[in-house]
Amino acid sequence: MPEPTPIPTEQLQFAMPPAHTGVDEERRYRKERLAAALRLFARHGLEEGVSGQVTVRDPEFADCYWANPFGVPFALLTVGDLVLVNGEGKVVDGRRHVNQAAFTLHAQIHRARPDVVAVAHSHSTHGRALAALGEPLDPITQEACAFYEDHALHTAYTGVVVDEEEGRRVAASLGPRKAVILRNHGLLTVGDSVDAAAWWFLTMERCCQVQLAARAAGEPVPIGHQDALRTREQLGSDLVAWINYQPLYQQIAHREPELFG
Ligand SMILES: [Zn+2]
Repeated sequence: MPEPTPIPTEQLQFAMPPAHTGVDEERRYRKERLAAALRLFARHGLEEGVSGQVTVRDPEFADCYWANPFGVPFALLTVGDLVLVNGEGKVVDGRRHVNQAAFTLHAQIHRARPDVVAVAHSHSTHGRALAALGEPLDPITQEACAFYEDHALHTAYTGVVVDEEEGRRVAASLGPRKAVILRNHGLLTVGDSVDAAAWWFLTMERCCQVQLAARAAGEPVPIGHQDALRTREQLGSDLVAWINYQPLYQQIAHREPELFG
């Protein structure tokens, strides 16, 4: 064997978000990623009955969003099951209803945040537990620092979100941030791709779990303000979220290829 020499970096594989030139190609990509994300949510136990929704903006019609249909288990969802819903909550493509309450919330977030491509929300266990305390995430781990001064707490609980006004209030609480903890309700995350929004949701859920476990066991040591900010600069972008998500995506795509049907 010859003396080992470094392989030029550009010759090593490294996945980056694809750039699609055609709208059909981009639409197909977003729908595939949406179906995959919902199946991953099922695998992570994030589904509670018919609660929970992930939506992605259509690349052509900015006020239309692909969503999971009402009552279909996340674990069995396919690309063909997804429904396209306009900003008024009307299904414009698909065979099933959408969860109107959940969709109203999503639509108002999408409308308030044109930079956002995808929104994720579910009634996950640890997110709900932290939401019940009405507390934000503390910067006590590297992962939690991604949310440092970049998530909000929505403190008004007024029942199931069914009206646009409450959806707008949640969007106002979210502001320009990547996530919001809805008190007594759960977590909601956004991203510039399905993968980023899904990653933020999955990692935020686990950050809630860690915070609750650490506090139950003792007194967590917070990371200092400057260090927490610097860590967020390093780990808090949607690109880093997309990269972090790829191992999960590759697993679900490999194990459940029927999701693309
Ligand atoms: Zn909800």
